[in-house]
Amino acid sequence: MKIEMPPALAAFVDSTHRSIVIGEERHEARSGETIEVRDPGTGEVIGQIAAGGAEDVDLAISEARRAFEEEWRDTKPAARERALLALADLVEVNAEELAMLETLDVGKPLTESLYVDLHYAAASLRYFAGWATKLSGDVHPVSPPVGDALVYTRREPLGVVGAIVPWNYPMLFYTWKVGPALAAGNTVVIKPSEFTSLTAIRFAELALEAGIPPGVVNVVTGYGSEAGQALIDHPGISKISFTGSTATGRRILAASANTMAKVTLELGGKSANIIFPDADIDAAVQGALLGIFLNQGQVCAAGSRLFVHPAIHKEVVDAIVEEAKGIVLGHGLAPDTQMGPLVSDVQLGRVAGLVDSGREQGATVVCGGQRPGGDLAGGYFMQPTVFTDVKDDMRIAREEIFGPVLSVFSFEEEDEVVARANASRYGLVAALWTNDLKRAHRVAANLEAGTVWVNAYNILDPTTPFGGYKDSGIGRDLGLEAMHSYTQTKSVWVNLD
Ligand code: NAD
Repeated sequence: MKIEMPPALAAFVDSTHRSIVIGEERHEARSGETIEVRDPGTGEVIGQIAAGGAEDVDLAISEARRAFEEEWRDTKPAARERALLALADLVEVNAEELAMLETLDVGKPLTESLYVDLHYAAASLRYFAGWATKLSGDVHPVSPPVGDALVYTRREPLGVVGAIVPWNYPMLFYTWKVGPALAAGNTVVIKPSEFTSLTAIRFAELALEAGIPPGVVNVVTGYGSEAGQALIDHPGISKISFTGSTATGRRILAASANTMAKVTLELGGKSANIIFPDADIDAAVQGALLGIFLNQGQVCAAGSRLFVHPAIHKEVVDAIVEEAKGIVLGHGLAPDTQMGPLVSDVQLGRVAGLVDSGREQGATVVCGGQRPGGDLAGGYFMQPTVFTDVKDDMRIAREEIFGPVLSVFSFEEEDEVVARANASRYGLVAALWTNDLKRAHRVAANLEAGTVWVNAYNILDPTTPFGGYKDSGIGRDLGLEAMHSYTQTKSVWVNLD
């Protein structure tokens, strides 16, 4: 399939071997090494990014430290707010170009990049911009043994934040991390995924254009094992804000034992989506489809375990299969595409391997399960896939697939389905569909997950904390809880005696 890149985009992609942004400058890696950028829709190499290493990370952290100490931490809150609002405006003005870059890099349909990723990126920046002028401490009613004291707290920035981001929502996650970090007065070194670094470069350029001083937002592209590891091991980092796999999250936690960096970890999931027999079936089916096929299922919150009551099981599965078979697969930039390719051949191999394991372990494929051929053969495509007859101990029931693969289970009782939903090492999100008000609140309270949706799926808002129970993470992105995690509290005692 031949997809022509608009000339301005092609020119930008030609320049991305200089993808390390330190201060005002874009650099190649000090080693000169590069990583190929592939279009997942065709499998073709479209450019190069710099394979940064320890030396690049060290330079970026020094520059971020300089910008922190000389400028940003003392920039007035109202000026930080204005700068972040200006960045949000620029993200919006450049949304089409950024969405195209994201689609070229990640594979998702252009409409999704534009109306989900870019929309929420601008909204998240605006939300965090507002906190810059609203972060306040408290005055404490202390009772010293003699005399009196005025005691107040200040919320101060941490220093240099390392933002390590995966490949499924690059632009969006830069804003989830850079927004609160900058609002609080920190500076940042972003380490994008080696699979999807293009929008990070533009994001850093737009930050400069928005008037954010050089050195406040830096980018080091490169492999996780090199640039990423150098960042988490560096003593100059005050916090690591990470989104990615649980395995990498554990490495970050281990590294923080040495550096004492604060950590926020947003990790994997294997989320349960439960349809009770009294639910609005049409809405629940749409929710199940959105839950598993958005971004080709490469969503940490994917509703990959669908529990359906036997009274409605056939109706629900038939409706999901009919809709899934009608989903138009294609290149993300093609206008009629409803679902794009997976991000890489590695991810395709991982997903295809898990689909094979489902078949081998006795589950039934009722839809998809193959790679499409023809025009799509060169890209990393996987058909929307639905399994029934899935047992709780199968690999497809336990492991995060991170692809368009749904496992459907049956359940009889409320207590039973809650216990089975909770019988996972993950606890990122869960959803339930019912018209019984008491059941809705009871089940929402009993599910072990950081977010529970009732009669909804995959909705987020910058105001609302997002993160995981159990192996799905530590801390929260978004909301005031995230904002506070980019600050440290200082208690000031003034002797009034
Ligand atoms: P990953 O952990 O392989 O990579 C994520 C980032 O970490 C990349 O930038 C990578 O280069 C970097 N990295 C890898 N090894 C590193 C190391 N040793 N030191 C420092 N950095 C390192 O994850 P991925 O495959 O890019 O993303 C998919 C995973 O992300 C899934 O498990 C998914 O559930 C999770 N995810 C979670 C959320 C959430 O909010 N909870 C959101 C999206 C994705």
